[in-house]
Parts: sequence; structure tokens; C-alpha cells
Amino acid sequence: MTESRLKIGVLALQGDFALHAKALERCGVAVVEVRKPETLAEVDGLVVPGGESTTLLRLMDEWGFVPAIEKFHGAGKPIFGTCAGLILLARDVENPRQPSLGLIDVGVERNAYGRQRESFEAAGVATLDGRETPLEMVFIRAPRIRRVGPGVETLARHGGEPVMAREGTVLVATFHPELTDDPAVHRFFCRMVEQAGSP
Ligand code: GLN
Repeated sequence: MTESRLKIGVLALQGDFALHAKALERCGVAVVEVRKPETLAEVDGLVVPGGESTTLLRLMDEWGFVPAIEKFHGAGKPIFGTCAGLILLARDVENPRQPSLGLIDVGVERNAYGRQRESFEAAGVATLDGRETPLEMVFIRAPRIRRVGPGVETLARHGGEPVMAREGTVLVATFHPELTDDPAVHRFFCRMVEQAGSP
């Protein structure tokens, strides 16, 4: 399978989906905005964007997305959650406690940088495909990853803390790679999708 034939869905219920779609298009994949669970059958990977996790959770529940995304994950299809998307995919969520899909074994604390630092940009370092790359990171009312399970690989850090992690086919970031011009993180996810699709 070549990267250009990949189809990646962006959950388009609320939040930052349009910029993810643009970033993925720049990587050369076909992008589908996913508004109904049935659409998941058409795509090879899924991005769950930032937004407001409580609202996203309610909309996902209303539209029957919870079992559909569990099935998608069970079929080995990659999922990438940023910020609120990470909160939805995490095993445990605090501040306040909130249900989640639990598809990656991390514990997160919502809105964990406090009011003074609600939104900020920072330079961090990511290790993508074994290569260390500097990465510009934009944090917006971001969660912090407070616990990383034994099967989870930390792919990027900021100030020594994990801000991007992967467990199998699930990738998460506390920051917003769709808000910078650097395509490195979306490219990395496209490669994950490509690899999951090849025998
Ligand atoms: N603070 C939001 C939440 O807890 C996440 C913010 C974001 O996605 N940019 O859901």
C-alpha cells in the first residue's frame, strides 16, 4: 500500500478537526470527516482532535461512537488523539474524574497547567522512528500525562514530562501538532496507518 492511497478519518463532531484534515492532506493521504459511526468502515486510521472532552464524550455517546471506536481499535486500525482526544482515549482521567475509552494505558489530569499557563508554545524533543527531532509544541488548556503504563512508549517530552506516547496502534499527544507547520507528527501517524495496513 502506498501512503497516497491511505484514507484517514478525522472525528468531526466538535473541536479542532479542520486543521487536522489540512495537516493530513499535506501528508498526501485522503481525508474523510467522520460524523457518523458507519463512516469508520471506510477509513484506515482515525484522528480524535482537541476540543472539549466532556462535550465530545456526550456527542460520542449520543451518536453511538463508543462501541464503534472500540471495534475500530479491535480491528487493529490506528487512532491518534490530541489533547481532548487523548483524554478520551486514556485509561484514567482526573480533574475531574471522567469516563473514557481506555484504549491506551496512561493516566491524565485535565487542564493541568493552571490558569497562568492555559495556552503556551514550547520547544520539546520527539523520538520518531528512532530519530530525535526538535518539535515546536502548542499547548491549549492541555492535560498532563501523570502515569504511563509498562506497555506504553514515550515519544516526546517537554520539561522532562511525557507529552506524546504510543501503545501499539494508539498514539496520543497533549499538544496540538495541527497548529504548527511541522508535519512530523502527522507523517508519523500516517506511517503507523500504512504499517497497520500491510500484511
Ligand atoms: N481542556 C480540554 C478538556 O479537558 C482539552 C483542551 C483541548 O483539547 N485543547 O477537554
